[in-house]
Amino acid sequence: MTERDLMQPSADPEERALEGALRPKSLDDFVGQERVREQLGLVLKAAQLRERTADHVLLSGPPGLGKTTLAMIVAQEMGAPLRITSGPAIQHAGDLAAILSSLVPGEVLFLDEIHRMSRPAEEMLYMAMEDFRVDVIVGKGAGATSIPLELPQFTLVGATTRAGLLPGPLRDRFGFTGHLEFYADHELELVLRRSAMLIDLQVTSAGFAEIARRSRGTPRIANRLLRRVRDWALVHGVVTIEEEHASTALTMYEVDERGLDRLDRNVLLSLIDKFGGGPVGLSTLAIAVGEEIETVETVAEPYLVREGLLGRTPRGRVATPAAYAHLGRTSPGEDAG
Ligand code: ADP
Repeated sequence: MTERDLMQPSADPEERALEGALRPKSLDDFVGQERVREQLGLVLKAAQLRERTADHVLLSGPPGLGKTTLAMIVAQEMGAPLRITSGPAIQHAGDLAAILSSLVPGEVLFLDEIHRMSRPAEEMLYMAMEDFRVDVIVGKGAGATSIPLELPQFTLVGATTRAGLLPGPLRDRFGFTGHLEFYADHELELVLRRSAMLIDLQVTSAGFAEIARRSRGTPRIANRLLRRVRDWALVHGVVTIEEEHASTALTMYEVDERGLDRLDRNVLLSLIDKFGGGPVGLSTLAIAVGEEIETVETVAEPYLVREGLLGRTPRGRVATPAAYAHLGRTSPGEDAG
């Protein structure tokens, strides 16, 4: 498994099915993110009382923190059907028009990676969100005509790994914006306890704590690691998973005791070994680790910054003394002393 696979929805059908089964189905089951949960709960309640479709919702935050899950919960709580699509799947405005015009009244449309939609589609979306109407262009050149098309009322739930990438006019059309934060270890323990119960796995409290600590603040990773630990326990004939079992199993899968995976470590090691600790530009760093800029920026960086291992400065990225210490490298400061 590569570092990217750990963050992204899995391609393995069994794993996807499991991910679906572990998804909380209501706001009450959704662990953590108190502010977003409370505010979103209010938006939905108000819509129910007014017997209207809910305002459009924008969710931002790193992968695996629960954006898709929340979109499903919005549909569930509104008793509405859900349609799922993503920015990269909408290349032409016509693709979007086809989706929008086939929605049923009240339907929830989940648009993942909304920042990767094409420009013409984005402009069509403005009008659809505001007036529930689109103009469809028929024909080409001088003979082209624009036909207005009425749409049913719908709720758009947009998700993005970076709200900053969205143009202002698009952002402004969402009635509610929620930013998802990395989860605290005790919240991940709750996620893990719930999942372990659902897959019928015995883990001690210290075992849960160990897996939570290595889960990079991310429920998707917590659930993946739980599965890896389950596999390990099965092979080793372990019935109740204790702290040392979890730690042995996860070290084997190259997840270190701070939860850093291979990509995280590569980013820090490149910074330190190839660029003297920085500052170095993001694109140079991405090339050095052989990853796309967006992956380094939206997948690796947010967690490294939160952990105080990487700094963003106007001149580029820098490794902090904590990064040197974690990777067992001598920092330049220590050298001089
Ligand atoms: P995103 O859309 O942000 O990438 P998902 O909503 O697909 O993330 O969440 C990934 C997995 O993590 C889901 O399968 C779900 O089981 C789990 N998960 C996410 N958020 C929570 C939460 N707050 N409580 C419990 N499980 C969660």
